[in-house]
Amino acid sequence: MPAKLVLSSLLLTAVAWGQQNPILGEDTVKVSDHVWAIMGFPNIAIVVGTRATLAVDTGLGPRNGATIARAAAKLSAANAKLYLTTTHFHPEHAAGDAGFPAGTMLIRNTEQQQEMELHGKEILETFRGRNAQWKELLSDVKLKTPDITYTDTTRIDLGGVVVRLLWFGPAHTKGDELVFVEPDRTLISGDVVQNKTVPNIAADGGTPGSWLAVLDKIAALNAAHVLPDHSAPGDGSLVSQEIAFITDIRTRAQALKKQGVSVDDAGKQVSAELKTKYSDWPNTNVANFVKSVYAE
Ligand SMILES: [Zn+2]
Ligand SMILES: [Zn+2]
Repeated sequence: MPAKLVLSSLLLTAVAWGQQNPILGEDTVKVSDHVWAIMGFPNIAIVVGTRATLAVDTGLGPRNGATIARAAAKLSAANAKLYLTTTHFHPEHAAGDAGFPAGTMLIRNTEQQQEMELHGKEILETFRGRNAQWKELLSDVKLKTPDITYTDTTRIDLGGVVVRLLWFGPAHTKGDELVFVEPDRTLISGDVVQNKTVPNIAADGGTPGSWLAVLDKIAALNAAHVLPDHSAPGDGSLVSQEIAFITDIRTRAQALKKQGVSVDDAGKQVSAELKTKYSDWPNTNVANFVKSVYAE
């Protein structure tokens, strides 16, 4: 294997491993002119301007939140203001806000905040129940009320870089947020656009149709770089790849439903078909997504 290929497959292995490790480190990689990322579970974006810094997502619990705040401080101008926003209400994205320093401005869309109030405690309990490490990381969670909420969109001027926070409708959850860093054309895509990773609709989230409608609006942003939260960064083609993958699942599942095929059999069949078509994806088990199509 040529050296470059060996290196990139090692890097992919490291990324895949890091993507499972819920304890984040302070090391960052540069994604675009104003955007850095901590690669882990989940990937955390840090957008740096001359006057202020924006952290996107908190990590699983306050200990990770504190790590992100330290990493952000290293990249930031002296006396920079710190903003924090969350891509959705799930605990690895939003349960670490208590680890950020006092004075951090928390911003969230109203739909996501409502979802947090309805289901935040319940999903924290589910995550605490998964293993002892997660229980410990989530032991002193204090979910703060946002300092700023917005409905569809808001802009933050960080000094030399304007960031748009966008709510385009329900997809992975009802309150999914997209973050678009204007001068870099970098999209921080949460769970809505991933890199060769099967999509999943959370209980009480969107529908396959609403997810595709969100993706159409994202496509209009014409992103050059995409930073997903549970997979490797890529270029703007990740958006059309996500549209193609979800469209393929939906088209096949709808056809099988029309033929009277059971949802379980359809899940197996569509997963097998996608394994052939998307042979470089690590996993194409779309049984859950097929269930979402059947329920539409
Ligand atoms: Zn999630
Ligand atoms: Zn997640």
